Amino acid sequence: MIKMNILNTAEEYDELSSVEVLERRMNFSMDVIVQTYKYVSAFFQLDIPISVYVADRVEVWNKLSQTYNFPDFACAVSMEESVFIKSKKLWSDINVGSFEETVIHEVVHCFMRVYSSVPIPIWLNEATAIYLSGQYKYYSPVNTEGIDMNTLDYNQAMLYDLSISKLLMLLEGESLKSIITRISQEVLE
Ligand SMILES: [Zn+2]
Repeated sequence: MIKMNILNTAEEYDELSSVEVLERRMNFSMDVIVQTYKYVSAFFQLDIPISVYVADRVEVWNKLSQTYNFPDFACAVSMEESVFIKSKKLWSDINVGSFEETVIHEVVHCFMRVYSSVPIPIWLNEATAIYLSGQYKYYSPVNTEGIDMNTLDYNQAMLYDLSISKLLMLLEGESLKSIITRISQEVLE
């Protein structure tokens, strides 16, 4: 189940706007969001309640950003089973991909938290989100040889490029689910 919320004030978390109002004001089709949920849910074979919060004003985003310490570059963040996202009009040129792809990316992170009982390495979490959202088309392959992938974090400027490059390479011989299971187990050992 997925629930969309539009935030005009930072206090409006739980106020659910109607689908028609959302579609008109945000200029996107609710159908895309529903399809996103179905697609990700089918992949993980899980059904978890997700709430998507769309910030339509910069003050709202700034307030959320300060409260929850979002990274400066972020146009969307996921926490537990919630996705916070800027509406399209608040996006800047540095934000990669479409609104729809970004929603899928963040929804994937929500599912990953529930799907794996052990913490998934950052690189694999990001790579899976980039892969399932189709954002991999924006990245050029980089050489991951000699890099200890499991120690990469958000301070590494090349994190996303390295992560998706590594995953695309592994996908040549193994399914995504098998990669997630195998690497999670390796991290535990
Ligand atoms: Zn991500």
